Amino acid sequence: MEHPENDEAYKGLVVNAGIEHPSSVNPYLKARKRPQRQALSVNDYVDGIVKGDTVTLSRAVTLIESVLPEHQVLAQEVIEKCLPYSGNSVRIGISGVPGAGKSTSIDVFGTHVLEEYGGKLAVLAIDPSSERTKGSILGDKTRMEKLSVHPKSFIRPSPSAGSLGGVARKTRETIILCEAAGYDKIFVETVGVGQSETAVHSMVDFFLLLQVAGTGDELQGIKRGIMEMADGIVINKCDGDNVQRSQMAAAHFRNALHLFPMPDSGWSPKVLTYSGFYGLGIKEIWEMIYQYIDFVKHNGYFDYRRNEQSKYWMYETINEHLKNSFYQNPKVEEMLEFKENQVLQGVQTSFAAAKQLLDVYYSTLK
Ligand code: GDP
Repeated sequence: MEHPENDEAYKGLVVNAGIEHPSSVNPYLKARKRPQRQALSVNDYVDGIVKGDTVTLSRAVTLIESVLPEHQVLAQEVIEKCLPYSGNSVRIGISGVPGAGKSTSIDVFGTHVLEEYGGKLAVLAIDPSSERTKGSILGDKTRMEKLSVHPKSFIRPSPSAGSLGGVARKTRETIILCEAAGYDKIFVETVGVGQSETAVHSMVDFFLLLQVAGTGDELQGIKRGIMEMADGIVINKCDGDNVQRSQMAAAHFRNALHLFPMPDSGWSPKVLTYSGFYGLGIKEIWEMIYQYIDFVKHNGYFDYRRNEQSKYWMYETINEHLKNSFYQNPKVEEMLEFKENQVLQGVQTSFAAAKQLLDVYYSTLK
């Protein structure tokens, strides 16, 4: 048919008949069905993990991270059965503000350790912001180029759902599975913001604090509590024209640490300088960690700390369950907003409102 715009009214404009637009879908493409993943039994999971199969391990970690109650039940059974195979590792917490060089360090440091000492390394993370950002950059494989392709490494980013306590508990449970899968070195990365350090500290044997000199706030910038947790402080980026500043910062940290009481471990935290980027001083860090582990294994603190951590996690789990059971109770959910408004409007005191909500909760348990 002649194109309507080739009418007299549009003379001067010639429109050729168009051609049919090809489909954007390749006609030769056959619909492909994703193969359905076979559901695994508890024993399948445990067997796979104990054999060191990383696919099964990943699937089990996903189970731990799932919010579905049936997954939770299955996950707990898997963890329970893996427990006898766990415990044989050195767990190291690595913390530092964004940009301190955590991922660069874990990459070079992890590769060094695997090459020099063998074994297997798992890198996990606790990112308190992951719930808000719906994803975590901590423990991100793309930030650890060498380690992510190393056959003896397993990298898993931070679980993203739930409160910090919940995220941390999942990471701790993942440690158990990794150990059962034969990972004898576990790194847990976290960002230096306070609360998450406490969470990491409650699941590792050695807590390493990464610092950078030259920011001017190396001492003011970190909270006293975090420094007190550290078993070792490392001043990173000690290279180029930053060497002198790094050494000065190290001296400052050593002086500051002298003012703190001796930690329960009996080990006085060491301060080292290094450059992750240029691979300087990496050996010394690992030696420091091993010296520490040797020291605390001999004086009994290693087992003491792990026992204390197990106790801590028992109470944490109880607290979390109780809290969830309360807030997910339908009767409580129904009343919560109303009571909150009553408190805001001054109709009821906070205590009276809380008491009423708790009474409603308890009445549903009978
Ligand atoms: P993260 O946020 O703590 O994980 O820090 P990154 O590892 O991503 O490092 C932040 C920046 O510092 C990157 O641009 C790195 O290249 C750089 N960096 C890391 N380690 C060193 C180091 O030892 N020396 C120097 N000069 N730069 C480094």
